[in-house]
Amino acid sequence: MSKKIIVIGSGFSSLSAATYLSKYGYQVTILEKNQDFGGRARQLKSNGFIFDLGPSFYWMPDVFEKYFGDFGKKVKDYYQLIRLDPAYKIFFEKNKTVSIPGSFEKILSTFENIERGSSSKLKKFMNEAEINYSIAMNGIVFKPGFSIFELITFQTVRRVKYFMTSIKSEVSKFFNNKKLKQILEFPVLFLGAKPENTPAFYNIMNYADFKLGTWYPKDGMYSVVKGMVRLAEENGVKLISNQNVEAIIEENNKIKGVISNGKNIYCDIVVSGADYHHTESLLNSHQRNYSESYWDKKVFAPSALLFYIGLNKKVRNLEHHNLFFDVNFDEHASAIYNNKKWPDAPQFYVTVSSITDLKSAPENCDSFVILIPIAPGLEDTESIRNSYLEKILTRIEEHSENKIKDSIIFKKSYCINDFKSDYNSYKGNAYGLANTLFQTAIFKPKLRSKKIKGLYFTGQLTVPGPGVPPALISGKIVSKTVMQDFPSQ
Ligand SMILES: Cc1cc2nc3c(=O)[nH]c(=O)nc-3n(C[C@H](O)[C@H](O)[C@H](O)COP(=O)(O)OP(=O)(O)OC[C@H]3O[C@@H](n4cnc5c(N)ncnc54)[C@H](O)[C@@H]3O)c2cc1C
Repeated sequence: MSKKIIVIGSGFSSLSAATYLSKYGYQVTILEKNQDFGGRARQLKSNGFIFDLGPSFYWMPDVFEKYFGDFGKKVKDYYQLIRLDPAYKIFFEKNKTVSIPGSFEKILSTFENIERGSSSKLKKFMNEAEINYSIAMNGIVFKPGFSIFELITFQTVRRVKYFMTSIKSEVSKFFNNKKLKQILEFPVLFLGAKPENTPAFYNIMNYADFKLGTWYPKDGMYSVVKGMVRLAEENGVKLISNQNVEAIIEENNKIKGVISNGKNIYCDIVVSGADYHHTESLLNSHQRNYSESYWDKKVFAPSALLFYIGLNKKVRNLEHHNLFFDVNFDEHASAIYNNKKWPDAPQFYVTVSSITDLKSAPENCDSFVILIPIAPGLEDTESIRNSYLEKILTRIEEHSENKIKDSIIFKKSYCINDFKSDYNSYKGNAYGLANTLFQTAIFKPKLRSKKIKGLYFTGQLTVPGPGVPPALISGKIVSKTVMQDFPSQ
C-alpha cells in the first residue's frame, strides 16, 4: 500500500509538492481552507471585472517550463503567455517616466539615452548576473538548506564576493545615475528586503527582469493556478476545498493525521504549504521547530495594502505594469523595516491588466490593482485604508493625467486583516520572509520538522523564498526530501 500524504493548503508550493509526490507514487490529498484553490494567487470576479488578487509579474518562464516539463508537459498545454512590451513603466518626478522595453537590445538604448556609456556597463553587469542565474538555477536554488556544504561548490566559492556585498553597492559600482540605480534595485524588492540588505548574488533578479522578460498569462495569473490544479489532478492528486486544518495529530512524535473541519483524517505524512508559523501553531508548543521570539526577530517581507478598482472608462498614459517611484524610497523603506509604521508617502505599483486582456473588464472599462508595500503587523482599519486610496489616486491622476476618482464603479480593498483571516498569515505578511543574507538557504526555517517524524513544510517562508517561481521550486525540494525519508514503496 502506498503511503498517504495530506498536503495543507493549495498555494503554488502545495500544488507543486502534491503533484510531485503523487507522481512518485504516494496517495496525496490537498486540504484547502478557502473555497478556491491557489492561495495568495486567487482571483476576484465582480461586476464584470476580473482581478488577480496576488501576483501579477510572471517572471522566470524557464522555471514554469521546467516544472511542467518534469511531468512530460509544456506550459502551452495549460495556458498561453504574452510577453509584455513595455515590461513596465516607471513614473519618477512629474513628466519624467521611463518605460522598460520588452527586449534587451531596446533596454540598452533606453539606458544609453539616460546616461551615456551606460549600455556597455549594463552589458557587463548583466553578464555577471547571467552567471549567477545559471549557478542558482542549475544547483543551489534546488538545495534543501540542511547543510552549508550544499552551497560550497567550485562555482560558488569563486563567486563568494556576491554574497559579501549588497545589490545596492554592486549597482553603484556600475552606475551613477539615480534613475538607473532605482531601476536596477527594483527587482530585488520582490525578495522582500531593502537593496542594501540583499546580497548582490540576487542580481539574478535583474537577469530575470531584463533578459528573461515580464510575461502575462492569458486570462491572468489565475490561469497558472488552474493549469497547476489540472496537472495535479491528472497526476492523481485529490483536492478538497473548504477544509480548514485545525490540528496536526501525532503519536510518540510521529505523524498520525490531521483534524479538519472537526474530523480526524489519518495519514503517514503531512506536508504543509500554509504559513510556517501557522502550521506550527497546530502543534503543542514543545513540538514546534521555532519559538515565538524566533519569529519575532525575523525580517519579514512586507505586507501590502491593495485596492481592486473598476473604472467606467479607459485610462491613458499607463501601461500594464506601472511603478510610482515619485517619492523617496528610503523613507518608505524605513517605515516598513525600521519604524514599522504606516508610510507618509509610499511608493506603489499599479497593474492595469485590461490593457493586455480585454476580458478582465467590461467593454470600454479598465481594471486597476494598486499595491502599496507596508510593514506587517500594522493596525488595519477601514479609515486608514481609505485615507491611502485618496492620496494614491491623487498621485496617479497628477502623473498620468487621468481623471480617475469620478470614474470608479467597483472598489474593494485588501490588507493585513485579510491576509490573516484568509491565509493565517503571520502578522498579515504578504510575501513571507525576506531574502537577507542571514535568511537565505541554510538560514531559512527548515523544511523538515525536527520534533515530529513525517511533518514537512514548504512555501514562501522556507527555501528558496518568496515569489511564485520559488514556491514551485520549494514544492519540488520538499517532495524529494519526503521521498528520501519515506521511500514510496
Ligand atoms: C499581493 C501580492 C503580490 C505578489 N506579487 C507577486 C508577483 O508579482 N510575482 C511573484 O512571483 N510573486 C508575487 N507574490 C508572491 C507569491 O504570490 C507568493 O510567494 C506565493 O504565491 C506563495 O505561495 P505559497 O504556496 O507559499 O503560499 P500561499 O499562496 O499563501 O498558500 C498557502 C495556502 O494554505 C492555505 N491554508 C492556510 N492555513 C490553512 C489551514 N489551517 N488549513 C487548510 N489550508 C490552509 C491558505 O488558504 C493558502 O491557500 C505576491 C504576493 C502577494 C500577496
